[in-house]
Order: sequence, then C-alpha cells, then structure tokens
Amino acid sequence: MKTGVFFHELFSQKVWHIINDKFQNFPGVMQEQLNLPNVELFEPKKVDEQLLLKVHTLRFIDNLKKQWYAEGAYYTIGGAVEASEKIMLGELRNALIFGVAAGHHAERDSAWGGTYASFCGPTIVNLQEKFPGVKVAILDTDSHHGNGTRDVTMGNHNVLHVCFCSVNRIEDNNTKICVDSGFQTTDDRYLTLVEEEFVNRLDDFQPDIIIHLLGHDTAKNDYGSRGLTKEFFPKLVQLVKNSAEICNGRYLINTHGGASVPICEYVYTNTIKILAE
Ligand SMILES: [Zn+2]
Ligand SMILES: [Zn+2]
Repeated sequence: MKTGVFFHELFSQKVWHIINDKFQNFPGVMQEQLNLPNVELFEPKKVDEQLLLKVHTLRFIDNLKKQWYAEGAYYTIGGAVEASEKIMLGELRNALIFGVAAGHHAERDSAWGGTYASFCGPTIVNLQEKFPGVKVAILDTDSHHGNGTRDVTMGNHNVLHVCFCSVNRIEDNNTKICVDSGFQTTDDRYLTLVEEEFVNRLDDFQPDIIIHLLGHDTAKNDYGSRGLTKEFFPKLVQLVKNSAEICNGRYLINTHGGASVPICEYVYTNTIKILAE
C-alpha cells in the first residue's frame, strides 16, 4: 500500500502567517522521496464549505472567506479529508498533508496564531459520517496548546486528544490530555513522554486512525523552541508509525507549526521516507 503526499503549489507561493515561506523550496526538495516506488503525490481539492459549517459558525466562515489566506486553509483541509478517507478505505497506508492557515488554534467561533480553520474538526466529522463509530487518536507535538482542536472535539469520546504543551491536564472522561513537555527538554526525554502519555494509551483506546500534528516549532532556533534537535523528528515519526500498528498502520501527519526553512525541509523529507518504508 502507498504513502500519499498532499501538496498544493499555492503553499510555496505565499508568505503565510507564523510559518512564513517555509515551503518555498517544495515540492522540488522532496523530489527524491516522491520518486520512491510506493509514494504518490496528490494535489488537494478545496474542502466543501458545508463540511466546515458542521464545525464552525456561519459568522466565522463568512469572515474567513473574505481573507487572502482562506484558499490555503481550504486546500489544506481538503487534503486531510481526502487522505483520511483513502486511508480508512485501504487505498493509502498513511499520508503526509502539507498545510497552511489551518490547524490547532481554530475554535468553533474564533481563531488565531496562523491557523484560521480547524484541521482536525472537519476531518473527523467527515470520517464519523462515513465510517460510523470510527475512533480517532490525535497526537499534537507542536510546541503550543491545541486550544482549537480541544474546543472542536470536546465531548466526543471517540476522539483521544493528547496535546504536548505546557500544562498537565486530564479531562473529558480521560480522552482529552495535555502534557507539559518542558521548556528546555531533550530529544530522549520528549520521546519517553510521548511513549508514556500517548503510545501507552492506545491499547485502551483502540483507535482506527492516528492523526499527528507534527509541528517543528519545538526545534532549537525555531520560534517555539523546547531545545530539540532536528534528528528528534524522524525518531518521533518512527515511534508513532510503530505504534500505529494497533490500527493497521493508519497514520496521517500534518506539517503544522515551525518557520525554519532548513529544519522544515529536513523534517518532512525524512517523514516521507519513514512513512514509505
Ligand atoms: Zn506552535
Ligand atoms: Zn495542551
């Protein structure tokens, strides 16, 4: 089975809020990985607005539509919706979804921090409509608290949300977890925490698919640094990929935060390689 890579040319053509022009050299820099025999590149389509309205308010979407960055968010979420369906249908084993302007800071009726529409919300609503009873485990290893993801999944006990941020918290019947990942940590300490706080919960939760927000703003010299080296990220992807054996390898990654061009290029080219192995 194949690894899907969802990328739209628009992502490399603009300077986005917060993540800037980190995709400026894509898709060129991932050519070698795209040439791997079991990797397929997809151009995402825009998400259906009716699906967004199942997560966000009408007022919110009417305002979003007027912004220059809306197009980027629509392609990002469209990619996630299509990829997650293909993974559930067994047409793809796993996928990397490049993304701009959509992500974990978008709540139902407000948004900030460079992400102006929910990435996980519409993706999960669509999956739950098409695959009733589907269980989704979200791992958020971006540096910041995923307030938006938490807001749009709260009360949904078929969604496990483990968010690595700056506080320790367990809520919503043990399905919504925040983990203090430490301000100055090490690669090994962080990986151990992911094992303890995410991987170890999967046996109980029994997910059908894992969605991973793989921000690299946690890297040394990036804007949300927690002191991690760039070599940390392939190790993290390998660890989560191994843990996804519990759901037949169904694993969807979104690029998420971070603005450093060299770290971005290192992290996501290696991510494709590991997903395709
Ligand atoms: Zn962040
Ligand atoms: Zn959190």
